[in-house]
Amino acid sequence: MNTVMKTYILLIIALITFPIVSQANKPIDSTTVISKTFTIVLDAGHGGTDPGKKVGSVNEKDIALKVVQKVGTMLEKNPEINVVYTRTTDVFLELHERASIANKAKADLFVSVHCNAAANKSAKGNETWVLGLHRSDDNLEVVQRENSVILLEDNYEEKYAGFDPNDPSSFAASLLTQEDFLDNSIEIAANVQIKLEASLKRKNRGVKQAGFAVLRLSYMPSVLIETGFITNKEERNFLKSNAGQDKVANSIFKAILQYQKNRDINNFDVEPVDIEEGNSSQVITAQDNKSGLTYKVQIAASSNAIAVKSYNFKKLPEISREKSGTVYRYFSGKLNTVEAAIALKNKAVKAGYDGAFIVVIENGVTRRL
Ligand SMILES: [Zn+2]
Repeated sequence: MNTVMKTYILLIIALITFPIVSQANKPIDSTTVISKTFTIVLDAGHGGTDPGKKVGSVNEKDIALKVVQKVGTMLEKNPEINVVYTRTTDVFLELHERASIANKAKADLFVSVHCNAAANKSAKGNETWVLGLHRSDDNLEVVQRENSVILLEDNYEEKYAGFDPNDPSSFAASLLTQEDFLDNSIEIAANVQIKLEASLKRKNRGVKQAGFAVLRLSYMPSVLIETGFITNKEERNFLKSNAGQDKVANSIFKAILQYQKNRDINNFDVEPVDIEEGNSSQVITAQDNKSGLTYKVQIAASSNAIAVKSYNFKKLPEISREKSGTVYRYFSGKLNTVEAAIALKNKAVKAGYDGAFIVVIENGVTRRL
């Protein structure tokens, strides 16, 4: 998928959350009232007159639909999950229609499935996109250009409620940081990448952030999955095969399931650090600390920005993140005694972080103890 297509598709995700006048004041259909706890919208990219990327007889829209249907079939077996599709047949959907489906469903998660393409036929691997927050003029130009596809739709003025695709400020005005929302998108994106890499043994191109802002009224985490390069012969043959689609779908299914299960423990209480018996040390707060030293336990390092939630780190307490170069380092705890740090380190090792170690922070400088 080239840059123009990519931005176009990311716009679709962005628009899912765009306030649409024609439905904003309309009551939700009774058929969309959902008793299940988790609603996911599965979006098969492209469709109908829009084939997406096409190589020979292989269409991106067909692969996307097959994969989405396989993912949906697996998810539907889980009684807690309500699956909603933007399309289940080979039809063209306007941007506002995809938005309308997701908004009506009050979805907890939006997952769009696509295939990548590049002029370089050897380009390969998987990547997952989240909406990012970039305010540079360059990105606004792209946003403006790509938003102009709306002009091709009838009655766009009514549909998009005063949104002028020719006016960058119209878009810029609706920018707002929504850190929690982005964290969730990154979390599901990271899940997908990990599962795809493990299952397909293909190049992990990572979680990527597009130059699109999260829109002001956005309320659901959204990702766009590039399941492989349709322009790469090997990946194309894999993606058009039933077995290949099964594998991709199974990975996406597992990633979504993991994300959904994590929602159940989203609000878990931070457990107190276990102090070994006979040890009289107490965990004290930073304000009480006279030494000026803070101890943390480094538990992981990753090129991915994973949400600093305990559920992402085996329920360890007080997760924090630091970026050094291109690597994110993840810590647990914020302690003022070595004893408490040792106890927490032991807990981290027990939880599966074999390489966990203590760091000490003095005057803003973090070093290994
Ligand atoms: Zn696409």
